[in-house]
Amino acid sequence: MSITAGVPNELGFDPEALRAKYRHERDRRIRPDGPGQYQPAEGAFAEDPYAEGDFEREPLQDTVDAVVIGGGFGGLLAAARLRQVGVERIRVVEKGGDFGGTWYWNRYPGIHCDIESYVYLPLLEELGYVPEWKYAPGEEIRRHARAIGRHFGLYRDACFQTAVTGLAWDEEAVDWLVTTDRGDRMRARYVVVSNGTLDRPKLPGIPGIESFGGHLFHTSRWDFGYTGGDADGRLHKLADKRVALIGTGATAIQVVPHLGRDAQQLFVFQRTPSTVDVRDNRRTDPEWAASLTPGWQRRRMNNFLDIVAGGPAVTEDLVADAWTASAHLLHNLTPVEVRDGLTPEDRERLDELADFRKMNAIRARVAEIVQDPETARLLEPWYRYTCKRPTFSDEYLQTFNRPNVTLVDTADHGGVERVTGDSLVVGDRKYEVDCIILATGFQVGRSDVLTGRLPVYGRGGTALLAHWKQGPRTLHGFYSDGFPNLFTMGSVQNAASVNFTHILDQQAIHIAEVVAQAGKRGARWVEPSTSAVDAWVASLGENSEALYKFQAECTPGYYNNEGKPRLRAGYGKGAVAFHALLEHWRDNGGLDDVLVDAE
Ligand code: NDP
Repeated sequence: MSITAGVPNELGFDPEALRAKYRHERDRRIRPDGPGQYQPAEGAFAEDPYAEGDFEREPLQDTVDAVVIGGGFGGLLAAARLRQVGVERIRVVEKGGDFGGTWYWNRYPGIHCDIESYVYLPLLEELGYVPEWKYAPGEEIRRHARAIGRHFGLYRDACFQTAVTGLAWDEEAVDWLVTTDRGDRMRARYVVVSNGTLDRPKLPGIPGIESFGGHLFHTSRWDFGYTGGDADGRLHKLADKRVALIGTGATAIQVVPHLGRDAQQLFVFQRTPSTVDVRDNRRTDPEWAASLTPGWQRRRMNNFLDIVAGGPAVTEDLVADAWTASAHLLHNLTPVEVRDGLTPEDRERLDELADFRKMNAIRARVAEIVQDPETARLLEPWYRYTCKRPTFSDEYLQTFNRPNVTLVDTADHGGVERVTGDSLVVGDRKYEVDCIILATGFQVGRSDVLTGRLPVYGRGGTALLAHWKQGPRTLHGFYSDGFPNLFTMGSVQNAASVNFTHILDQQAIHIAEVVAQAGKRGARWVEPSTSAVDAWVASLGENSEALYKFQAECTPGYYNNEGKPRLRAGYGKGAVAFHALLEHWRDNGGLDDVLVDAE
């Protein structure tokens, strides 16, 4: 008899009925054009509204020890960790006008990080800083990014408002030639690429959108000149405006309470509702901050990762929020000692039951908060919890109780159907507005290297993308054979998790250690052997079929390539095991695989 037999009655819901409902909702949402429904942002949508427009400087033709491409937290962490191991000249090259990456571009009203600040903001102990809030506002995060830049002396050599346009390995000089859109031809012994996670806005290809005569902008280029106010809200210029917001993802959840409060009228165009869990933000308790002992942040980060990324069972939950509660729900239903002895099928059944429970609670919360039953019904999400990015708010659902706020469901029409000179059209209804705000997301995880926007030529002039014709070829996601002294950060052929800055920090620590050892052991360069790369690529893919199957049943979104999931060869045992593997590799002769001609 199956382990889950008899469980449905005890739980008080019918799993088969829920499965059927999820399938129905998914099929209702699927679009044949998949990712092709979006357009890349160009022109005004991609411009930098925050930097000096007429900034100019002389092209650089100098040599540095390391060029780091990208000044978000990935690049900052790489640069900081390289500095800690004694690398002298580090040049961060960044498209924006300052450090911050995602947090530089996104300044929309209500912006906060939905991961706890004490584990999300990196290098807190190094900087002697404790964030002011449990969930930090964007401005504090941006300030912290700049503080990291100052603390590690990264402003001295940084190049802002500069995009790298090419990387070419110079065999004779044993360094990289780095060219940019400002005419630079700089040289660097090492290059670290960390760009492209959430920096390129995505625009919906809605017919007629270019003909809209009112105001139109994307949330990541918020036009405060038009709306008034700032990241804290108070959008006073919207008092006489009818506003349409397209999208209901993690960004919209934070923006809607402000638009609802300040606009004369707000129409929220929803295609798929998000899961909206409890937020419970609060100020940092000064007594707690004063009680922290050295090593506190690393302990907390590890504890959070253990809980949300399936590390060893831990009894203590230091973060204790909705992220960890969801992860615990699974463990409560399936204690680790029981789980280990289950077949994969029984494990999946139990995971599914825990998921149904979680989603039932999420749906019950909507019904409790939203007064109009029809609006509440439309706001209920019908898919498995991790099909889409979970969100958290104590104000979003409440906003739909305001008389000036209308939810427009577009699910049966594949989204907003059409835009005219002054309106949005869905079905047989027209919504006349003064302004459209696109909360339609980003080209997630498409780094410039992967898209070919940043061409890379390695040994013998071989193009990286040609070398990767059959898919990426790396050791641990960092480096490729034929491309010496080049490191990439991000989520290719490694393991990720929701606290992405933790993942990036482990990557930065690893890169810095490899570079430090290369210096100490007099290596001519750093490059994985072809056999080491082959072995890593062959070892990947565990769980990828299970993930593929899970995602194929999910409602569409960027997590599953808009309903067209791809088999992804990542490291299947999760982030905790991946970090342990890297440490073990470093301590047990792994470096011999990458340090060429070392002593
Ligand atoms: P998302 O990609 O998550 O959401 C885009 C939204 O636009 C979806 O609701 C989508 O609907 C909707 N949409 C797209 N096209 C149309 C259309 N034609 N008609 C109607 N609706 C449409 O973008 P976000 O900016 O919200 O979030 C991106 C990511 O940024 C998050 O997933 C998260 O990783 C990160 N983020 C993190 C935060 C944090 O605090 N750490 C805060 C904010 C964002 P559908 O779902 O049906 O496709």
